[in-house]
Amino acid sequence: MSTIDVNKLVKKFHGQTVLHGIDLQVNAGEVVAIIGPSGSGKTTLLRSINLLEIPDSGTITVGNIEIDASVPISKQKEKVRKLRQQVGFVFQNFNLFPHRSVLENIIEGPVIVKGEPRAQAEAEARKLLAKVGLSGKESAYPRRLSGGQQQRVAIARALAMNPEVILFDEPTSALDPELVGEVLNTIKALAQEHRTMVIVTHEMSFARDVADRAIFMDQGKIVEQGPAKELFSAPKHERTKQFLEKFL
Ligand code: ADP
Repeated sequence: MSTIDVNKLVKKFHGQTVLHGIDLQVNAGEVVAIIGPSGSGKTTLLRSINLLEIPDSGTITVGNIEIDASVPISKQKEKVRKLRQQVGFVFQNFNLFPHRSVLENIIEGPVIVKGEPRAQAEAEARKLLAKVGLSGKESAYPRRLSGGQQQRVAIARALAMNPEVILFDEPTSALDPELVGEVLNTIKALAQEHRTMVIVTHEMSFARDVADRAIFMDQGKIVEQGPAKELFSAPKHERTKQFLEKFL
């Protein structure tokens, strides 16, 4: 059974259709990379999966929660809340709380949303910080950390909710080049644990090496998809070829 099941998803902004009926299934344990030119709808698709964007039509299922866009979202608030608890989201610009320490950023969700005892959430947060290579940074504030460190805190924060899936929206594009590798290595380690992940990225060699499947989007549609190594070494569609040639 798919962990993520998107059906006939349509999204418009100001009357302009930016997603033209997307179908996307992601299996448990699968790592999917979404690539494509700027403006092709990659981020909008990712944000729609956890209802950061509300679709105009179609359905979105994560685990056992289905949201049908034909029902007003105000009538599905409880389902939206449950769905979001199952989805971790890592933003391009980290989105940490600036006035809270690293540890407080990580335990916020478990304590406030899930009602976990603080001591338990802190113990788990320390383990997660070790996992992303940031032991000892518990009481640091985000502004004292490099972008790469902030993004690794954001990944630990997503993991703290123990989500079914983690969505990454261009997780390295706000970083100085020398900090990209540490974040990609952190994501790679999660891929090796077979966590279900969808990653929008411009890092083509990372996508080829780490993703099980790659999806090429253009103009609000999925043009081509397949095993990542195949899609990168032998793209079938002319538009995919043209896009990938720019990265050679
Ligand atoms: P990508 O991630 O592939 O660069 P996006 O999903 O960000 O593409 O954008 C797809 C299209 O939707 C673009 O034309 C973009 O300008 C438009 N768009 C995205 N977000 C908004 C928004 N909040 N309001 C209006 N238009 C938007």
